[in-house]
Amino acid sequence: MKNGWMKFGYFVSCAAGLGFALASASPALAQEAKPAFGTEQSISATIEKLCRANKQERVALLSEVLDDNGIKYRIEEFKKGQAAGKNLVVDIQGEGNVAAPTDGTTLPKWLVIGAHLDRVERGQGAVDNGAGCATLIELIHRIRQKPLDNLRVTAVFFDLEENGLWGSAAYAKSLKEKPFLMINMDVFAYGDELWLYSPKADHPLVKASEKVDPNFSLTFDFAEAYPPSDHLSFLAEKIDAVSYSLLPPDEVDELEKMFGGDRTVRPKILALIHTADDLPKKVNTAQMLPGINFLESAIRQWHSELK
Ligand SMILES: [Zn+2]
Repeated sequence: MKNGWMKFGYFVSCAAGLGFALASASPALAQEAKPAFGTEQSISATIEKLCRANKQERVALLSEVLDDNGIKYRIEEFKKGQAAGKNLVVDIQGEGNVAAPTDGTTLPKWLVIGAHLDRVERGQGAVDNGAGCATLIELIHRIRQKPLDNLRVTAVFFDLEENGLWGSAAYAKSLKEKPFLMINMDVFAYGDELWLYSPKADHPLVKASEKVDPNFSLTFDFAEAYPPSDHLSFLAEKIDAVSYSLLPPDEVDELEKMFGGDRTVRPKILALIHTADDLPKKVNTAQMLPGINFLESAIRQWHSELK
């Protein structure tokens, strides 16, 4: 177990707007046989499909993937200046964005889990963040199969994260009532370390993640600071939020060093995301599957300790 670390800088999170557009845009309309969820095949089918066309088609492709998975969703449109985006929202358990009842009764606590669906122009957005979307789809299936009792649970696929967290900001601002917790997933793509951002070292999810079976083939590490992603939009609205990534321990170390102030370190992940190399072949589904298992176990452990 490593200690949390403090960051003194920021990830480059801007869209690589001047990058080369990928030429191989082909509409993904054909129906394919869909593999059962919870397998490497199901994860890779999702990522392949999301990466098939260009940046503009990501919402349509994700809608198709959700349809193929039998997951009902609604589209919440938002505007920011000249830009318009679409968040895809899935009520997994109960109804999410509703006002507190006025008749004296209370609703169950509300958990939001999310991942950004958009990508930059350059590359195909596999590591950042097709893999995070595939992880979220797996969690939707698993929570449906084995519910988290006495909770409302909503999944949100956020648009325009790469523009500056716009989709999550619009969503978080639209809420009639604050969720109890938001769990984000970004760059959950390869490696054997589950890496958690938590605003505090003694967060219940840190404790829960530390309690997951020590025989797991993964290590766990947490950080008190982390690259900008959609969890920040919730923290800005005073909603508790954390974020998970899956990376190799040495790449987590590089990031910890860089954001700990060592400017000589050039983390490998920063030479991959937002570049032409962010392709499906960079994702390791054989490592993602235990990563998702670990993440699910951590959430269930956290849930078992909820008061
Ligand atoms: Zn991302």
